[in-house]
Amino acid sequence: MKTTKNRTLAEPFRIKMVEPVTMTTEAYREEVLKQCAYNPFLLHSKDVFIDLLTDSGTGAMSDRQWAGMMMGDESYAGAKSWLHLENVVKELSGMPYILPTHQGRAAERILYSILGGKGKVFISNTHFDTTRANIEFTGATAIDVMPLEARDPNIDLPFKGNIDTQALEALIAQHGANAIAAVIMTVTNNSAGGQPVSMQNVKEVRRICDQHKLMLVIDGCRVAENSYFIKQRETAYAHMTYEAIAQEMLRLADAFVMSAKKDGLVNMGGLLCLKDEALSMQCTNLLIISEGFATYGGLSGRDMEAMAIGLKEVFDPDYLHYRIRSTAYLGEHLKAKGIPVVWPIGGHAVYIDAKALYPHIPVHEYPGQVLVCDLYTLGGIRCVEVGSVMFGKYDADHQLIPAQNELVRLAIPRRVYTQSHVDYVIDVFDDILERRDQKRGLKITYEPPFLRHFTARFEKLY
Ligand SMILES: *Cc1c(COP(=O)(O)O)cnc(C)c1O
Repeated sequence: MKTTKNRTLAEPFRIKMVEPVTMTTEAYREEVLKQCAYNPFLLHSKDVFIDLLTDSGTGAMSDRQWAGMMMGDESYAGAKSWLHLENVVKELSGMPYILPTHQGRAAERILYSILGGKGKVFISNTHFDTTRANIEFTGATAIDVMPLEARDPNIDLPFKGNIDTQALEALIAQHGANAIAAVIMTVTNNSAGGQPVSMQNVKEVRRICDQHKLMLVIDGCRVAENSYFIKQRETAYAHMTYEAIAQEMLRLADAFVMSAKKDGLVNMGGLLCLKDEALSMQCTNLLIISEGFATYGGLSGRDMEAMAIGLKEVFDPDYLHYRIRSTAYLGEHLKAKGIPVVWPIGGHAVYIDAKALYPHIPVHEYPGQVLVCDLYTLGGIRCVEVGSVMFGKYDADHQLIPAQNELVRLAIPRRVYTQSHVDYVIDVFDDILERRDQKRGLKITYEPPFLRHFTARFEKLY
């Protein structure tokens, strides 16, 4: 990472507690991967050297967050830690009703079970998979409307996470405003590569929602990372602080759902924030039945204290600059080596186009899963396939209907790995390139009916 002075951008923190990680041999990894049927979700973390499986709940807390843990107030009702968290979140969201939950999907389940139901339609830039699952579980329909150009993995656009506002208006006309339960903006757009959403796009969505009296929900678990991109790429916001940008965006919404395992900088936690009093009372009833009382919602006092501190720390300019630049550093170096990466690089992960890397492996032999396995065998690196293993379906003759792209995601945990870990990952790709022509595909020997990527088993072909 080079600054304008062409100096390495060193991590804006130093280490005062360490967790050892162990390097194993390639022969050992080959053997355990075989035992795990070539599915790294089944690996034990002790056998992983660098874990890039997800950025969710895998971050490191600061000394101030750990100090906050000691100050956690474990009172059942009205704890000091709750009041601290509630204050921070009210200031961030501008919303009067704040509900704590144990993670993002709990907030989603509560909100969408009230808004959803048969015949209802939700429209989003892209529904995250737990969002879609919670909506479809109520019998409602979830429709994604990404702009066409944003689906091209190579086109360089500043805000590839945006919603297509023309398609949104067409869908509202088609279904009728009465059938639309809500418009959901996912910020940054996780399933679309962690690409940012512009303020202008959210303002336009707000205008459309006002025109049709529709509810606008922001799924904002990476709203701080998104603010970084807005400040860099939307000139009207260049002078504003990251926190002020996030505040302005959240004030455009009627509800704000957050998995605090991302930009909350904690290992577990979530939030549901609302403007409407009647809706907040309905949600609070469900919260109390399923999560816990309204002032803890399934969290310990110490968890809420750490979250309150994390939600302030995440807007620190040095942190956000390091965060976004370090993800880009990995992506830019891989690209320079000739690895086909999705462009531009998003906020929390680098995506590799495995179909382009292994053109000789057909889609039904899962080139993405082959790369995932190679990264583990060659380097002890764990990551995830986002392609036909995750999204593939079968036609009536049990032939694979492949996913749109065969991607591999390297997700970056927050404040966990140093630049030398990232340099190591970049080096492993030299071995990947050296052996790419010898690589052969995989076949599935077991798969469950839903979310098969978690537990599927594979065998090597040839
Ligand atoms: C992680 C995530 C969720 C779900 O949150 P959990 O805390 O994992 O339940 C919802 N939406 C988006 C965009 C996410 O990235």
